[in-house]
Amino acid sequence: MPRPATTSSSALSTEGFLSDLWRQSIVPTLCDFIRIPNKSPSFDPEWTSHGYMHKAVRLLAEWCEATSGITGKSVEVFELPGRTPTLLVDVPAFAGGSGNILIYGHYDKQPEFSGWRSGLSPWEPVLDGERLYGRGGADDGYAVFAALAAIAALQAREIPHGRCLLLIEGCEESGSFDLPHYMTALRKRIGVPDLLVCLDAECGTYDRLWSTSSLRGMLPGVLSVNVLTEGQHSGAAGGIVPSSFRILRSVMERVENAATGALHDCLHVQIPQVAREQIRAVAELLGEDVLRKFPWAPGAEPEEADTYLALLANAWHPSLATTGIGGAPLPQDAGNTLRPATSVKLVFRLPPTLDANTAANAIRLVLEDNPPYSAPVSFAVETPQTGWYAPETAPWLNTAIQSASQRHFGKPSLAMGMGGTIPFLRMLGKTFPLTQFLVTGVLGPHSNAHGPNEFLHLGTALRLSACVGDVIAALKKT
Ligand SMILES: [Zn+2]
Repeated sequence: MPRPATTSSSALSTEGFLSDLWRQSIVPTLCDFIRIPNKSPSFDPEWTSHGYMHKAVRLLAEWCEATSGITGKSVEVFELPGRTPTLLVDVPAFAGGSGNILIYGHYDKQPEFSGWRSGLSPWEPVLDGERLYGRGGADDGYAVFAALAAIAALQAREIPHGRCLLLIEGCEESGSFDLPHYMTALRKRIGVPDLLVCLDAECGTYDRLWSTSSLRGMLPGVLSVNVLTEGQHSGAAGGIVPSSFRILRSVMERVENAATGALHDCLHVQIPQVAREQIRAVAELLGEDVLRKFPWAPGAEPEEADTYLALLANAWHPSLATTGIGGAPLPQDAGNTLRPATSVKLVFRLPPTLDANTAANAIRLVLEDNPPYSAPVSFAVETPQTGWYAPETAPWLNTAIQSASQRHFGKPSLAMGMGGTIPFLRMLGKTFPLTQFLVTGVLGPHSNAHGPNEFLHLGTALRLSACVGDVIAALKKT
């Protein structure tokens, strides 16, 4: 694995240590991990009888057990009845280090999705240069390895660090509905973290340490329109019976302007100035590459050509995706029947500071109120999740992040809001308002965590682990 340019000999030894650990032990175990189709409970309701979740968590726990050179660590698969197991690795403070550090990741996976390139598949790892392809490697299987490797590298060089608790959950991709139960059950063990390191976020590029300063919330739900109790000949009924699809379009237009993409006023917030400044810095550095990173169909263009405005929209505006359509056959199987009903799964992303439950109630009322032709219209809200906005970063942490990025990547770190959602951060931020956060990850350009061809960029994962070690070691209790 290529090493980044560095001027410090101690940095070289950290990189060398990590490089050996990744090559000899982590990559082969990650390959085994990719082979397990441990889809998150929402995508595999039979997960208990399938046994993949337990197989995956056992694999990770066994690797943690087997990794030597970490004084006093304890590894436990903690399981509340009927809930996805949580992996806990508790490492006591080392060499006089102080502070309480919580490190978060998850091991459940998104479903396969379609469109994997020939030669690649979700459940069979393929190593191609620095890329390890396969489902769940980058999102977020690498996290426990990166975290424990970071700690092992510190201890190998006798560098003091505070107490580290790794908490790796099995329900993140389903909205972390098991996590609050674990947070309650583990409250004493977690204590009050001084620093939370979350390893499940995005990176804008693979050439530096990125930190996430905000995340959007999410409002998923199913919008259904019913007109008939059974399908009818479209010639016999057309003109008398309104189309359920047209009614659906009409009520959706109330929340989303189809021509401009603008969403209802109740989904917008005031954007903080500091968030705008961070995004402007990133836009200037990355230019339009940041818009080109998506696999555009020939001729297709972004919603917004200005990079700054596009990134701002991604981090701080609401957006809407129609992720599933029900009540309709595939076009090649469709005849000429007027269908009785149409339903769509809608996923709204919400600005970081917008309360998701308030938004859910408002949107449901707008969609269901006074439906065209008095047709039954319902919006069944699934679990709404409020986003997250980081507390102000303490000076020691700012310095630690910048020097770690310079040391291991040779470039300054950048921070910005990201468009995704991590429910855990909101839970933790609410419970521990004084905790500092390093929210980072390897989900960079083309890594495609929830789609086909997901890959983990190994060089970035290794350097990220080195950076995490430096930041942990720099923790100053305030
Ligand atoms: Zn994830």
